[in-house]
Amino acid sequence: MILEGINSGKRKSHEVKLASDLVIVGGGMSGTCAAITAAREGLKVCLVQDRPVLGGNASSEIRLWVLGATSHMGNNNRWAREGGVIDELLVENMYRNPEGNPIILDTILMEKVSLEANIKLLLNTSVYELEKKGDDQIDYIKAFCSQNSTEYLLSAPLFVDASGDGIVGFLSGAAFRMGAESKDEFDELFAPDEEYGELLGHSLYFYSKDTGKPVRFVAPSFANKELSKLPRFKTFNLREEGCRLWWVEYGGRSDTIVNSEDIKWELWRIIYGIWDHVKNSGQYEAVENLTLEWVGTIPGKRESRRFEGDYIMHQKDIVEQREHFDAVSFGGWALDLHPADGVYSDKPGCTQWHSKGVYQIPYRSMYSRNIKNLFLGGRLMSASHVAFGSTRVMATCAHNGQAVAMAAKLCKDKSLLPSGLSDIDHIKELQALLIQSGQYIPKTRLNLENDLLKDADIQVSSEFELNSLPFDGPWKSLEFSMAQLLPVSESKQLSVQIQVKAIKNSTLTLELRKSQKLGNFTLDELVEKQEISVNNGEHSYSIDFGYAPETAQYLAVCLMQNEDLEVKCSALRVTGVLSIFNKFNKSVATSSVQSPPDGIGIDEFEFWVPERRPQGHNLAFELGESLKVFGKNNLTNGIFRPAVQPNAWVASLEDKGPQMKVCWDSPQSIKEIKLFFDTDFDHPMESTLMGHPESEIPFCVKSYRIKDGQGNLLHAQDANHQTINTISFEDAISTDKLIFEIDHPSDTVPAALFGLLCK
Ligand SMILES: Cc1cc2nc3c(=O)[nH]c(=O)nc-3n(C[C@H](O)[C@H](O)[C@H](O)COP(=O)(O)OP(=O)(O)OC[C@H]3O[C@@H](n4cnc5c(N)ncnc54)[C@H](O)[C@@H]3O)c2cc1C
Repeated sequence: MILEGINSGKRKSHEVKLASDLVIVGGGMSGTCAAITAAREGLKVCLVQDRPVLGGNASSEIRLWVLGATSHMGNNNRWAREGGVIDELLVENMYRNPEGNPIILDTILMEKVSLEANIKLLLNTSVYELEKKGDDQIDYIKAFCSQNSTEYLLSAPLFVDASGDGIVGFLSGAAFRMGAESKDEFDELFAPDEEYGELLGHSLYFYSKDTGKPVRFVAPSFANKELSKLPRFKTFNLREEGCRLWWVEYGGRSDTIVNSEDIKWELWRIIYGIWDHVKNSGQYEAVENLTLEWVGTIPGKRESRRFEGDYIMHQKDIVEQREHFDAVSFGGWALDLHPADGVYSDKPGCTQWHSKGVYQIPYRSMYSRNIKNLFLGGRLMSASHVAFGSTRVMATCAHNGQAVAMAAKLCKDKSLLPSGLSDIDHIKELQALLIQSGQYIPKTRLNLENDLLKDADIQVSSEFELNSLPFDGPWKSLEFSMAQLLPVSESKQLSVQIQVKAIKNSTLTLELRKSQKLGNFTLDELVEKQEISVNNGEHSYSIDFGYAPETAQYLAVCLMQNEDLEVKCSALRVTGVLSIFNKFNKSVATSSVQSPPDGIGIDEFEFWVPERRPQGHNLAFELGESLKVFGKNNLTNGIFRPAVQPNAWVASLEDKGPQMKVCWDSPQSIKEIKLFFDTDFDHPMESTLMGHPESEIPFCVKSYRIKDGQGNLLHAQDANHQTINTISFEDAISTDKLIFEIDHPSDTVPAALFGLLCK
């Protein structure tokens, strides 16, 4: 029994002091991915999250779908899903949760964090104060957990602020901004004026459910009953729930931090007002049996403080895809701004302008310029309001979080502060560590200098040659122009035979296109055009193109729109070979051509987007000369996804036992083997609500075996669905040969591997 008498003074909460290598504040996707990365690199991490679960805006408390550079497959960024920890999480989520239940995502995040012994996770623990060492460093932070009535004093040499609003940066005196820059500051022609507004607001979501019997709804007294004139009601439909209600936005005209609770109340007034209108206005059919299944209680916050790093990203970095010597991550979501009046505005709920391809994110935007031991994670990174419109999405934040954590590891190893890494040599080291952990940094390849494969001879049992894709798929109407992306080697000309079906005599227009910028998939350069007269019925045609590219790259054979024609597709799917269509995804664009108004510094171009499986078949074709771009040299080229070329070794489908042998002159001591499989970086894997037709990616190798030179089995896997497989040996093995027996994923998909590392 505890018995305490009267205390005329004050009592103190229970106090716990914790020292770590890295304290991360905020368990959104950025903080969570940073924590997992740092822990795997051996850092003792303290992850502090003020709510009961991880995930931030993606958690079951708010229920946003995690998105990034793939932009719902609605822009021209091919194979652009983020890599590393966020990839592992999304692939796992799709495997366990193709239905998109946000509660399952919670469990995956909790599981992954709890599996890391180096992470001390403090849930329900809110950071509210800190102490500094001198003017420019944080000594420790103070946090309080209301559930166990404990005050934590958390010290570390390095801190990450991934709290969204930037509690650590703010309290420590880090330079920050809130609101929009003028057009002049960074020459940003898209910078909004006061009328449009300078801040993005909060949103709250709801889910509805059909109960199978009539349900009444009596609105709470605080519901706003004056909403029937909301401009958005003109297009509102009952299929909109969860994150499709992103337009229920409010608060962009006020301080989104100090007025956050007031904003939330207004959003509740709006949500219950909307539901009252739906249920009781008589304007909606089939709503009698509907009830509110869930209404958010914590608003999703879009924007507040942005902290200043040594570099502030801005519009031109994104639109012009500027390159940075210190690139450690990338983005690709549109510049996506919203009117500050939110749901009450008569303007479109958002304005999204895409760039022609993905852009690099520099390391110098990821630490505070004046608080020397503070990294910037998530949406509060160093970017202008306009650039933030793109960098703010969660997969980008998570990918940046991984970069920050890896930088923290290097800082620890070298006793440096974050800015001490921003010279070219340290950046190269950081990039190399990141790429090995799955990070994708456009235009950057891993130098294998420290890898055992550098001195190995690699032999493979077969190499896929792209000479045809069989005519065994469905017919596809040319209702939209269709392009087949083909990885073409330097100086190669294409000769393509296809099958066309016409319902009446017509003309097929073919265009051979490329992208002006190597590595983009915007198809903004026409290199050749041909027309073919097609008679009613089914026919085969051979087309010879005279163009030969100066460097290896993807070319697009475009079959231009003609509703009288269909083309034969193939059931075969091959890593790095894809069809795309000149259409648009209305979630992220308003037309199949991006046509910005003059004077906002945005490019006009066409969208060429893929279709989601089970659609998205390749065009069936035969080539005059095969494309030999799937060879074993791709295994060690230091790029682990399709970019300018497929970058994968692909086995031939006729090869019934694909094998790769890695041979050295003398026995090697091997502690770790890493394999990089194809989980289709083109697929966005939205985490919530949307659902996916498959739980495993058809390109991904499921089963393989690794043997040593004597034929001893070192490792067998028969149920893989992940991108990166890391095989660690407690005691290093010694062998002069490794044999990998890799099974094709299916009869219509050949086995592929982007890379292999041996340490
Ligand atoms: C309505 C809406 C729609 C959006 N649409 C999308 C979309 O479709 N896809 C997409 O990817 N992105 C979308 N975004 C953007 C995206 O959700 C945010 O930009 C992103 O979540 C920012 O990530 P973060 O990790 O910085 O912050 P958050 O996800 O907010 O995570 C920060 C975490 O820090 C915690 N925290 C805050 N203060 C403290 C403290 N004092 N102590 C301890 N912990 C603290 C918070 O509880 C939170 O869990 C949308 C945003 C909103 C609001």
